Amino acid sequence: MAVTPTRFSISHDPSSSSSTSLTNLQSQLIFGSKDNLKKTQLKIPASFRGKSANLRMMATGKTSGLTQEANDRTCDVTVDRDNKTDVFDDMKQRFLAFKKLKYMDNFEHYKNLADAQAPKFLVIACADSRVCPSAVLGFQPGEAFTVRNIANLVPPYESGPTETKAALEFTVNVLNVENILVIGHSRCGGIQALMSMEDEEDSSSFIKNWVIVGKKAKESTKAVASNLHFDHQCQHCEKASLNHSLERLLGYPWIEEKVRKGSLSLHGGYYDFVNCTFEKWTVDYEGSRGKKEGSGIAVKDKSVWR
Ligand SMILES: [Zn+2]
Repeated sequence: MAVTPTRFSISHDPSSSSSTSLTNLQSQLIFGSKDNLKKTQLKIPASFRGKSANLRMMATGKTSGLTQEANDRTCDVTVDRDNKTDVFDDMKQRFLAFKKLKYMDNFEHYKNLADAQAPKFLVIACADSRVCPSAVLGFQPGEAFTVRNIANLVPPYESGPTETKAALEFTVNVLNVENILVIGHSRCGGIQALMSMEDEEDSSSFIKNWVIVGKKAKESTKAVASNLHFDHQCQHCEKASLNHSLERLLGYPWIEEKVRKGSLSLHGGYYDFVNCTFEKWTVDYEGSRGKKEGSGIAVKDKSVWR
């Protein structure tokens, strides 16, 4: 069957003076060496191809400004629609590119990492495929111990064991991380499940039995935003849930002790992938102590990256 190439645009500016060395390196991994960045053939995995039209439609909707910016930074890509390439062929090429451009070029660093890790961050993020912290925030191997669960929830200290609590214990008490960053995101399916389930629902669904961990955030959202459209309620709950998770972290005695002594900081992050912005804030421990129990946390150093 004949191959029908299709052209479309993706966001990339190899010549931007604001590009960091990390961005350049990531670009090299994706687009090949710097010499042929401007005109590169990129194979799109079969599993992704069917979604490109939807992504393009979303990009022409509310995010017209971003779409224009993306068009201004056009990099031509040819999609081979009839390509029967196995998805693991692409994965193999990405791994070999990582090995060549990162591992071998930073061999001493990776050799040291093979012996021990000393990440500065524990990141708790949603398992959603669109919000990978390493891709969005550029964490490199060794920089962030990462645990991902549906809706980036932190269970209360008193409840039973979970993989998130095991990661907290290991990173705080063994690795001595200096920062815990909990990242929420726009259009979170886990939060939508939480917001749409009945309060008294007795379910055998693993999803519902997990997201109910965020029940407090749902209740606080319903208390102040029940008159809003469901999508906006969810958006409110995504951020409320983040702050409830940060408050819960202070309920872990060995976390609270380190935060009190200043050797550990707690941060919230919110990635909006519709408008591509990232909000970041830090828990104000002293300010939070001054608040009534159950009335939330105080935050400081809030900023929005856009
Ligand atoms: Zn999510």
